[in-house]
Amino acid sequence: MNNYKIVLDAGHGGTDGGASGNGIVEKDLTLAISKYMYDLFNELDVPVTMTRTTDETLSPSQRVERILAAYGNSPDVIVISNHINAGGGEGQSVTNKCITIKA
Ligand SMILES: [Zn+2]
Repeated sequence: MNNYKIVLDAGHGGTDGGASGNGIVEKDLTLAISKYMYDLFNELDVPVTMTRTTDETLSPSQRVERILAAYGNSPDVIVISNHINAGGGEGQSVTNKCITIKA
């Protein structure tokens, strides 16, 4: 049994749209993916929260503040930052960066 807690970070948002193409804007897709993941973790009874739940502009420091405010700065907090790459290769790729914030 572990005590992992999840912070989902929907990349970009607000005035920062991120990458766009084919009618898709990164900030919207990262939010949709994050909400989907949020529901899944909830169903599994894993503690989970999100850095943003709306189309909101967040500075890098605001993002970090929200991550740290969620469950503190602990090794059992897993941060998943969702981004959609736009360049290189064919089709789409989804990158999930998992970072454990350490003191
Ligand atoms: Zn991005």
